[in-house]
Amino acid sequence: MLPLNPMAPTAAHPIAEHIAAVCAQAQLTPDATLAALEADLVRARCAQEGVGLAALIYGAALLQAGDGGASVEMLGEAEADARDAGDDELRLQVLVAMSKALTITGNLQGALEAFREGMELSRALGDRHTEGVLLLGLGFFHGQLEESEPYEEYTRLALARFRELGDPQRVALCLNNLAGSISRRKRYAEALACYEEALPIALSLGWRRGQALILGGHGGVLFHQGHIDEGREKYLASNAILEELGDVFQLTRHLNLLGRALLEGGRPSEALPCIEAAVRHAEARRFEIELSQALELLSRAQEALGDAPAALRALRRHVEEGAAAGIRRTEEIVRKLKVEHRLSIAKREAEQQESRNEELAAVNAALTEALGRQQALQDELERLARTDPLTGLFNRRYMEELGNREIERCQRSRAPLSVMLADVDHFKRINDRYGHSVGDEVLVEMAARLRRNVRGVDLVARWGGEEFCVLLVETDGEGARFAAERVRRAIAQRPFETSAGPIKVTLSLGVVALEEGHARLASLLRQADVALYTAKDRGRDQYFLAPTG
Ligand code: GH3
Ligand code: MG
Ligand code: MG
Repeated sequence: MLPLNPMAPTAAHPIAEHIAAVCAQAQLTPDATLAALEADLVRARCAQEGVGLAALIYGAALLQAGDGGASVEMLGEAEADARDAGDDELRLQVLVAMSKALTITGNLQGALEAFREGMELSRALGDRHTEGVLLLGLGFFHGQLEESEPYEEYTRLALARFRELGDPQRVALCLNNLAGSISRRKRYAEALACYEEALPIALSLGWRRGQALILGGHGGVLFHQGHIDEGREKYLASNAILEELGDVFQLTRHLNLLGRALLEGGRPSEALPCIEAAVRHAEARRFEIELSQALELLSRAQEALGDAPAALRALRRHVEEGAAAGIRRTEEIVRKLKVEHRLSIAKREAEQQESRNEELAAVNAALTEALGRQQALQDELERLARTDPLTGLFNRRYMEELGNREIERCQRSRAPLSVMLADVDHFKRINDRYGHSVGDEVLVEMAARLRRNVRGVDLVARWGGEEFCVLLVETDGEGARFAAERVRRAIAQRPFETSAGPIKVTLSLGVVALEEGHARLASLLRQADVALYTAKDRGRDQYFLAPTG
């Protein structure tokens, strides 16, 4: 799933909104509401009557409850039923809900198809209101892809439509989304004007969710302008409503944003309670990205308040949470780009078939160029996901993946293979004497020397802080001895040139050769680690080959 906001401010389905309002009045919990709607669907299936409508309502409610996957499934059933029954009005409403559900679950191609079908159907039926709803959704769709220009354009079209048709709630929603798209383009004054027009409408309608959205967006723009106190006031008002609505996700995001703004405004003691609340919510609900952000803020706040041990604890947890979430996010972005990439190819092929005139040739050239850029971006993202940013070597995760593959290959072909684990000697002293950034320079040079002193086919990775791992392919224990000694000498014989002048650096290495029976990289590394400690014990600046047998 893409990292989208499940409570995003697109137009929720009117039936679902209505049901939510009725249930809220009857004080039904969200779970009870969903159970009732599911029961209704089961009844309709048994009676073989009204299945499409019941599935639409249940699907829309699932979406509002944040379960996009289940919603898509339900709406699929509703679509099929409406199609069988030849009920175009119902099918149109299903397409509206479907386009939103697919946007939120990251199925961009499916969402675009639903938008296109819905648009055609609403025009055929002369349903200008639903067409407006789709325009609004289409704007939001582009917003999720960070394409602010079409986001703004479609939203403006929808706004004009709802003003004309006199639908105040959707006017307010359009104004809210429009403000979002405009503020991304840094036109803050215009964005504020939209929020100021939208809020009274939401207030007069008694539309609580709308008020929360608008107040939150408004606060965000005020922060961008540096008006911390005014921004905080908006956020607090918004958060009170979110609490009342039970929207913990949005609430957590707001607490993080508020905490960050207060922290950056130099008010850590006021920021701390917000951030702590964000950590609690994010932990309880497993919002991993929000948790990682909150922990980073927590550490900064505690540092600013002089509580170094607490800051360090929070930072350590942030790094752990962030690494896991970051890897997943990168993978999601790559996946998203791949979908877009396929979309562009499909579009280009369709256009090529249609006509061959000059205008199209120009469009194709532009598309090809855009495609090239996209491919380059995708390649870059994939490269980033496997390299260590400081040294440019492979990172640990990628090495583990490659290493196991390489080991399996060598075992199959009965080729030898060795592993070296290298650790810089007394690296802490270098950091302590010259500072962390000189330490970093040493690591960069270390990586370059390592790379230069093994063969091109050998795999080199940064394993941890000042530890490196080298996979020597097609190399037995004797060959590994040579390699280790060559590396050791290449490091020790010439001081490292740094911005603090030349520094003498040495390296200890643990070496192990693959024997039959070793299945995984992990077990080889355990042995290499023991060998490394022996090398350290024996006085450093040397290698030690793990004994066989
Ligand atoms: P030994 O010879 O026993 O390995 O001594 P050492 O000082 O190298 O051992 P230790 O593992 O205690 O210290 C490693 C240090 O590396 C501690 C940590 O601050 C530093 N370090 C880890 N990652 C980085 C980094 O990315 N940059 C810099 N500059 N220092 C780092
Ligand atoms: Mg170490
Ligand atoms: Mg060390």
